Amino acid sequence: MQGDPGSTIAEWLRERSGALSWRTRIGYALLPPRCVLCGGEGDLGAVDLCGCCLATLPFADPAAGRSAPVPRATFAPFIYRDPVGSGLRALKFHGDLRPARVFGALLAASVGVAAGSAGHGPPARILALVPVPLHRGRHAERGFNQAEAIARQAGRWLGLPVRTRWLQRARATRPQTALRGAERRRNLVDAFHATPALRAVMAAQRSDASAGLRSASRVALIDDVLTTGATVAAARAALVEAGVPAVEVWTVARTQPRRGEDDAADQAARNA
Ligand SMILES: [Zn+2]
Repeated sequence: MQGDPGSTIAEWLRERSGALSWRTRIGYALLPPRCVLCGGEGDLGAVDLCGCCLATLPFADPAAGRSAPVPRATFAPFIYRDPVGSGLRALKFHGDLRPARVFGALLAASVGVAAGSAGHGPPARILALVPVPLHRGRHAERGFNQAEAIARQAGRWLGLPVRTRWLQRARATRPQTALRGAERRRNLVDAFHATPALRAVMAAQRSDASAGLRSASRVALIDDVLTTGATVAAARAALVEAGVPAVEVWTVARTQPRRGEDDAADQAARNA
């Protein structure tokens, strides 16, 4: 991302707002956007945020180093620091969907800007967005999956479908919080399974390809926050094993490479 990330994202959101569904546009015409941070008037199109607050968000420096290995083609536009961290926690632990709407829009805009400004359309050759699933028990307990809520919003902005039935999560046998990096990765082996639905789609793609048809082949795996990268790496492995040729990872935020004043927030993200 070049220049001031806030202003390029603001421009993308304003332009793209006109291409959203009529229902969304009527909704915002009836109830004009209000910034979730300052309560002021929204000036970014169909999103509850204002340009001033957008400029203050903790954008990640794409060139910054990382302490943990992360999969290639990873987008994480923000550092997990307030108000992004507190917004993601409000979504995850209190079911507040307003942050999902705002962060889904910001994630879509970041990816859209990074994919190139030509037409401001969706990134090329993305077949679908796949939210990192929760296991069924956790999903039932919480009532929703925060990664899915973010993916649905990002999908709306990018005009891309969201597939929640391609990947399943088996119950992890040991809590991740008690484990260190390598143990976490081992614990996650076989935590995710591709479904027959995904395998059928991939088989159809392969027969299209052998017939000389070019089709979308990349899948974007969506999560709220990237910590050690172990979870997305395990989910990605299940997609690749089912024949997905390329997997991108899109998360709203990532924890900082070095543990600093946000230790508590970082720990909260890890524990979630
Ligand atoms: Zn504001």
